[in-house]
Order: sequence, then structure tokens, then C-alpha cells
Amino acid sequence: MHSPEQLPELLRGVGMTSQRTRDRMTARLAAQGIEDDRVLQVMAGEPRHLFLDEALAHRAYEDTSLPIGHGQTLSQPWMVARMTELVLSESPRRVLEIGTGSGYQTLILSRLIPELWSVERINGLHHRASARLRLLQAHNVRLRLADGGHGWPESAPFDVILLTACAHELPEVLVSQLADGGVMILPLADIDGEQWLTRVRRDGNQSHVQRLERVRFVPLLQGVIR
Ligand code: SAH
Repeated sequence: MHSPEQLPELLRGVGMTSQRTRDRMTARLAAQGIEDDRVLQVMAGEPRHLFLDEALAHRAYEDTSLPIGHGQTLSQPWMVARMTELVLSESPRRVLEIGTGSGYQTLILSRLIPELWSVERINGLHHRASARLRLLQAHNVRLRLADGGHGWPESAPFDVILLTACAHELPEVLVSQLADGGVMILPLADIDGEQWLTRVRRDGNQSHVQRLERVRFVPLLQGVIR
């Protein structure tokens, strides 16, 4: 870890990780159609560069996805903003995220939602995300190393479940952990393997599936890697 004297500068960033760079990122997001000011404000204030290896930190605010190790990626800012906007439009109190990854999407959500749970299947990523979220005092987040396909049954039901990895069929176990009227937001592949951001609303024993836009995510996989 870093020494206490280094911390403020590290958090704020300098040069390519400075406040100006963050402001340019959110101006771009607004121009690209992100309308929710709460999302833009939180993303302007939070240090995305701390969720990458030092060698990549200078690219943190580019409009691109970036590698975080173990073959996984941190989604581009636009995707994080869009998914956060979709989650917030439900005014949820309790949200479950599947695919903590770097923890950046988790951090953004944690600033905007009262209670958050997040599951990751790769130990190395889970560990690093825990350290970052602790450093940034995201105290309303509970993290777990597990196969997110099982959800988080003890804490269900959730108002929103967000997947940040692409499913190939509707994960019924997760649908069953939604509150009535609750929503799951996920990348879902069609039979041609094309991925669609998808919104599923639980209505009693039925679910209403709505296809949104084309996206690209890493796949939802089974099991835990220690
Ligand atoms: N939201 C993340 C994106 C990470 S990429 C970020 O902001 O960095 C998607 C993540 O989902 C990867 O870390 C991958 O390991 C994880 N994942 C894939 N299948 C999973 C599963 N069944 N359970 C939990 N996590 C899973």
C-alpha cells in the first residue's frame, strides 16, 4: 500500500488522472446522452485511476474498456454510466451486483444507493476490489467471493440485480431473488452470440424481458477461482 502522505494526491490524481481529466470524461458522457446528473457528478468525483494497475492508470479516463488481469476488463466509462443510470431509474434501496471485477462500478453504485451487495468469482480480483473499496470508504457494500449465478439468497429480495458479465440464458435463480416489481439489468446473448443490454422486470411469477442496446461484455462463467 501507499504511505499516508501519498494518499491525498493519489486519490485526487495528477496529470492524466487529474480533476480536469475527469471533468472532460463526464462532459463527453453528457454529450453522448447520459442525462442523470447524479451519475455524472459521482463519476466526476471518484478516482477511476485507482481501479487499474499503475501502468494503465494514465488511460483510466479514456472512453475505452481496459484490462484488469485474469482476462477480465473494466468497462468503458460510458457503459458504467449507462448501467448506473438504468439502475437509478428504479430508485432502488437494495442492489445486488454480479461481477465486482475491479470494483469501479461497485464504487459508483455505492455512492448512489443505500445498500449494495457484490459477488466476484475470481479471488485475485475480489481481494483487490475489497482493498480499494475499503480505502475509499464504501461502507455500504458487502462483497463475497462466490459464483454469482447463485445470487445472494440470505439477503434477497433485491430491488435491482445488475450483471456486469454476459449471460447466455436468463438466470432464473437470480430472477427468483428479485422483489416483485424488481428489475434485473444484464448483458444477454442471443442465439447468434450477439450481446444485448436487457432489462427483465419480475411481475409475480412472470418476467417481462426488454431488449435495449447492443453491448460487449466478458462472459458470465461458473465456479470460483481461488
Ligand atoms: N463491473 C466490473 C466489470 C468487470 S468484468 C468493473 O467495473 O471492473 C466482469 C466480471 O464478472 C469479471 O471480474 C468476472 O470475473 C466476473 N464474473 C463472471 N462470471 C461471474 C460469476 N458467475 N460470478 C461472479 N462474478 C463473475
